[in-house]
Amino acid sequence: MIITIVSLIDQFLNINIPTYKDYQFFSYLFESNTKGDILRVQVASKKFKSRLKIFDELSRVNRKYLAIKAVFDRIPEDSKFIVVPGKIDDTILLYHLRNEVDKLNGIEDTTSNLDKTISQIASLYYTQSFNGNAKRRQYIGETDKSNRICRFCGQQVPIVSFNNTAHAISESLGNKSIICREECDNCNERFSRTIEPDIANMLSSLLTIYSIHGKNGIRTTAGKNFKLSLNEATKSDTNVGTITIQLQQKFPENIEDFFKEQLSLDASTLKYIPQNVYKCLCKYVVSVVNKRYLADFRKTIDWINSTTRYCKLPIVAIGDAQIKMEAPYLIVSIRKTNNYNYPYCFALFAIANTIFAFIIPFTSKNKYHFTTPKKYKIFQEMIQSWYNRIKWSFNKLSSSQRTYTRVDFTLQIPPECKLGKDYFVLNKKNNL
Ligand SMILES: [Zn+2]
Repeated sequence: MIITIVSLIDQFLNINIPTYKDYQFFSYLFESNTKGDILRVQVASKKFKSRLKIFDELSRVNRKYLAIKAVFDRIPEDSKFIVVPGKIDDTILLYHLRNEVDKLNGIEDTTSNLDKTISQIASLYYTQSFNGNAKRRQYIGETDKSNRICRFCGQQVPIVSFNNTAHAISESLGNKSIICREECDNCNERFSRTIEPDIANMLSSLLTIYSIHGKNGIRTTAGKNFKLSLNEATKSDTNVGTITIQLQQKFPENIEDFFKEQLSLDASTLKYIPQNVYKCLCKYVVSVVNKRYLADFRKTIDWINSTTRYCKLPIVAIGDAQIKMEAPYLIVSIRKTNNYNYPYCFALFAIANTIFAFIIPFTSKNKYHFTTPKKYKIFQEMIQSWYNRIKWSFNKLSSSQRTYTRVDFTLQIPPECKLGKDYFVLNKKNNL
């Protein structure tokens, strides 16, 4: 059996208890009832902490016990924690359990509205989160290369190879840690040419300004009449470094007037196909989704692989995340019930200051396409009420025509920043 430990510390712990002997060991460690069943609520008392010594001996046989002991050591003394049977990897359920632990320890519940939301999501969807900034790499899929089947083309060794590291989410968006083992070198190379540049182009200036580190450091965004770059050499705790904006335009006589002007940046060199952005977002989901659901995404994968042509797709919600995401964060929710009014799978994807909420189209467990306003409305309202702190806009990403993002902005320099000290204006001819 597997048990999950939820405590006041940020780390959740899954412990595998393979034999009865191991179970006896853990029932010695924890408080149990007269029948020998481990109690759900435990206290990290002095007595409990002193029992942790038994791990020292066990760790000589198996190093994993050291890691388990380290987690128990970090639980604050005399605080309550809970032991739940089973391996719990549903993000929302874990969040729920963590709230329960907070309450047990008398920590004020300030999230009652959020609680209701969490319960609603938990009752409808199984949810998993993937953090592109995690310290440890997270590998998805089969370890043994000879047993791998590519999630996208369905091929195996020796027809295809798995030599390159396939980032489940594009490295250009700052993903360092989420790796998909089940993406062959051919598909990896193909996506890097076909759909991945689209999302990077769409978000280019944000990737620069929000200092997202891709494979070759921070991206420089070069448009027709401007160039945007960020140099982190001057970075400190209070600033992001030096942002350089090179503009090809006439400066007004009075430099003050320049800061009042609305600047129109021509980003037409950074073209993207909206539908490819949608495909790429769904490609990320297919890369991370648990293997047991893959068969439901067969037609989604066919669509991702296909030549991009116009087709009517669900609307995509795009919001201002209001926080800075230095690396991508992906939350995938799979419907647990047969309520077909809700899409079978939807996901949230956040990077820089932007968050996308989207339905995965063409799954076998959707009865509807969610492309009509009436059918889409349920999803729209669900997103707006569940993630109500985010201001959402609703966008069509069905087009197969190349387009580009309009960048209109004014430079707002706070009055405490001084010209010649905190910022500089260099005016030279042919400055691009
Ligand atoms: Zn493949």
